[in-house]
Amino acid sequence: MVKWRGRRQSDNVEDRRGMSRSAGMPAAGLLVPVLRFVIGRFGVGGIALLVVGYIGLQAIGVNPLALLAPAPQQAAQPPSAKSNEQFAFASTMLAETEDVWGRKFAAAGQRYAPPKMVVFTGYVQSACGQQSSAVGPFYCPGDKSVYLDTQFFDELATRFGAPGDFGSAYVIAHEVGHHIQTITGISAQVRQRQAAIGQVESNQLQVRMELQADCYAGIWAHDADRQARILEQGDIDEGLRAASAIGDDTLQRNAGRHVTPESFTHGTSAQRRRWFMKGYESGSVEACDTFVAAQL
Ligand SMILES: [Zn+2]
Repeated sequence: MVKWRGRRQSDNVEDRRGMSRSAGMPAAGLLVPVLRFVIGRFGVGGIALLVVGYIGLQAIGVNPLALLAPAPQQAAQPPSAKSNEQFAFASTMLAETEDVWGRKFAAAGQRYAPPKMVVFTGYVQSACGQQSSAVGPFYCPGDKSVYLDTQFFDELATRFGAPGDFGSAYVIAHEVGHHIQTITGISAQVRQRQAAIGQVESNQLQVRMELQADCYAGIWAHDADRQARILEQGDIDEGLRAASAIGDDTLQRNAGRHVTPESFTHGTSAQRRRWFMKGYESGSVEACDTFVAAQL
């Protein structure tokens, strides 16, 4: 368990929970979550049920998509106690990354400009377009913000078999790692190179980006552990389990697909563990240069 209670929460967090529906999501946008729910509940056969239901409703003159649309003036549901707890945890973890990276930048004679974090439910509008929580937590360089649906923390436990709050902290630290890459100019360099090469090489470069963000998450764990003593025995294992659980090979295998390394953009589970540990053991940004590493 991460010892986070009573610690500082970041001011850079924007609470947009419960806002996606009242903002009037088009009905079609709800299809994906509905499909996910039906498949999760009834298996692929659930799709057949949906199709039969759809045709049936149309036959009696009801537009099924209209049923999916939110009521026009629907009041936002107040967040649950659990969601509030996860919100507080995420805000505290963001503050911990601010402290760690603030000190790192200060040591190099620079000022750290931290990212914003937007906590949302369902859908969110970002400088990277409208996104669904189905894509998982993400960092948008356009508005230098980490986007997070706290439901992902539940999914880490239920869907990816990686329970424990350090797994959630690791995911936040990884996204903040992308912020570090953005403000240090690494992301821009990578995008420039990607524009000049083919898809396969571009994906390989993307893997190095992702593994570096894992390594940066490790640096955060290293420093947070030494400076704030917020970690307990077993926390790092939880982080490593999360890193394994969301490796591309594991995700592809769980999705019932063949594992095709050339389409990997995050690295294998083993690679993600290795680079997280590199950052965690060294606490050094130099140790995280995945771009010159001969072996990932
Ligand atoms: Zn990433």
